Amino acid sequence: MSEKFFEFLEEKLRRLKEQNLYRSLKDVNSRDGMEITINGKKYINFSSNDYLGLSQHPLVKEAAMQAIKIFGCGGGASRLLAGGTVLNKELEKLLAQLKGTESSIVLNSGYTANTSLIPVLAEEEDIIFSDELNHASIIDGIRLSKAKKIIYKHADIDDLSQKIKETSCKGKKIVITDTVFSMDGDIAPLKELYEICKFEDAILYIDDAHGTGVLGQGQGAWKHFNLPQENFVVQMGTLSKSVGCFGAFVCGTNSLIDWFINSARGFIFSTALPPSVIASAIASIKIIIEDKTLIDTLWHNTEKVIEAIKILGLKTTNTQTPIIPLLFESIEDAMNASKIFNSLGIYAPVIRPPTVKIPRIRITISAAHTHENIERLIEAFNLLCQQPRRA
Ligand SMILES: *Cc1c(COP(=O)(O)O)cnc(C)c1O
Repeated sequence: MSEKFFEFLEEKLRRLKEQNLYRSLKDVNSRDGMEITINGKKYINFSSNDYLGLSQHPLVKEAAMQAIKIFGCGGGASRLLAGGTVLNKELEKLLAQLKGTESSIVLNSGYTANTSLIPVLAEEEDIIFSDELNHASIIDGIRLSKAKKIIYKHADIDDLSQKIKETSCKGKKIVITDTVFSMDGDIAPLKELYEICKFEDAILYIDDAHGTGVLGQGQGAWKHFNLPQENFVVQMGTLSKSVGCFGAFVCGTNSLIDWFINSARGFIFSTALPPSVIASAIASIKIIIEDKTLIDTLWHNTEKVIEAIKILGLKTTNTQTPIIPLLFESIEDAMNASKIFNSLGIYAPVIRPPTVKIPRIRITISAAHTHENIERLIEAFNLLCQQPRRA
């Protein structure tokens, strides 16, 4: 029996390889700014979500080292069993301040946050309205909840409006969306979503993984649209992207956060993050709050790259952020382009189905990219345009 299973696995892996859908790990030998070494070859990394370069900031590194000296490495237990430290509270206070909410709680990752918060936010009689391009962790969180799910067309307010109006429900209605869509780089129409939720008495749960530290002068997508604080808005975000560390958080009212602490399984049944991670996240967020030069550099770099793409007529999405996908007709075309990039020492891998429908090279821009790095990327775009198109 088990032998058959392994034969079956090998057959499935073989098929993935045939279809160019096989994935493999790319571990780096070293990292220095946005320069990485893989298998001894140097690349400029254009696939990192470290938008502000904070993962390598001297103050952020120093904070982690100090915390290890004081508290040691691992947390040793769940947060409810003294696995956290006073640093956790300090970080949560900062996050609530950053997002303008009463309270916040840190979770172990963005994936953990969505898969443990959504099932306890939504109850059995509720209905969740979910954008069709929401992140996999949201999709899984909805699957784990007992609520009914209705998917609306990507960022389509008319479709959502219609669906939310024609659906009657004994419980509550919850709208869930990424703020910045991680594979397309476009921004959800949060103002309209806010208005619909207010009118329909619905809860709005936003995943600001790619908005935090990037939009709204670092405060995130809610601030980007200058929307007011409301009890019905739940703001989730991560510490793993522009914050440059690891972990996630959710911000909301006191009672909501208290409920999550008392019910979210991924919070209760998992060891608290190491104190070093919490300490470095505190240092990062202080930098995001106090120093806007990194954010300015990020946007300067982003605008340069988007402008080059427009001038060259390369195919991209409706991106409004440092996530800049180059779209291709086929996986083969995308892989050929990726090879051209590689030959110029640019690391920008192909994202393929089923992660996305249209194969793409997902370029992400960082404040840590130097002027020369950006020029090299634009040179690669030029080279790509000179390639003869296959019929
Ligand atoms: C990356 C991401 C997550 C997962 O966060 P991790 O901290 O990496 O687990 C969740 N939601 C969105 C929109 C993301 O882009």
